[in-house]
Amino acid sequence: MKNKCWVVKIGSALLTNNGKGIDKGLISQWVEQIVELQSHGIDVVLVSSGSIVEGMKRLGWKEKPSDIHKLQAAAAVGQMGLVQAYEYLFAKHEVQTAQILLTRDNLLNSKHFENISATLGNLLEFGIVPVINENDTVATEEIKFGDNDTLAALVANFLSAEKLIILTDQHGVFDDDPRKNNDAKLINKIHFNDENLEKVAGKTGGVLGSGGMHSKVMAAKQAAESKTISNIAWGREKDVLTRIYQGEYIGTLIHC
Ligand code: GLU
Repeated sequence: MKNKCWVVKIGSALLTNNGKGIDKGLISQWVEQIVELQSHGIDVVLVSSGSIVEGMKRLGWKEKPSDIHKLQAAAAVGQMGLVQAYEYLFAKHEVQTAQILLTRDNLLNSKHFENISATLGNLLEFGIVPVINENDTVATEEIKFGDNDTLAALVANFLSAEKLIILTDQHGVFDDDPRKNNDAKLINKIHFNDENLEKVAGKTGGVLGSGGMHSKVMAAKQAAESKTISNIAWGREKDVLTRIYQGEYIGTLIHC
């Protein structure tokens, strides 16, 4: 029987401990959980951000440059750190990893689509964990995903994933901005078409978290197109992935 597939997206702020550097301790916890998920017959594809932030740290840049080519250079430098960390930490469990860098164009081009599909299929069949990021070297505005939340949702569509888990530095989707309203409540479960989700997404766009809760909610709505259930959860929550597997509600579940 074909394995179930989960796409796990990890955000930059979380992965780099707010720019301090790649948080290997934290990644190793997710790695352990992913290995456990694999033992339950779940194929996991990682969509990992963090290359620009890690590149800036390696280059000693304190401020994010606005020049796109400088950002691309930082991403190229930082991507080395990302793959190194994932390779090293998965290797401890004798699990191999593979790097895939994509642009929006790649998913729209039928020949490229075919090749990506075949490559991912083979990697998953061999028990390898693909680590996907945007190909920032060639990504211009027109062919950019914009943020990795969108990329992760499209990958989930592409693989008809059962789940898309967006790990972030926020606890999930709130019914109001928790920074401004102490009474704001975490939404545990919501349908992707629920009009309240639209409202919250609109309200919190760009306010919460580095990527913004808005893009995460929009990614969940996109993922629903392939009947993929999304979970937006705090990445530091203990055993977040395996507890979601056990059916616990952690963060916000966006169902279809
Ligand atoms: N490719 C970017 C990075 O790895 C993605 C940033 C984002 O998710 O917005 O830094």
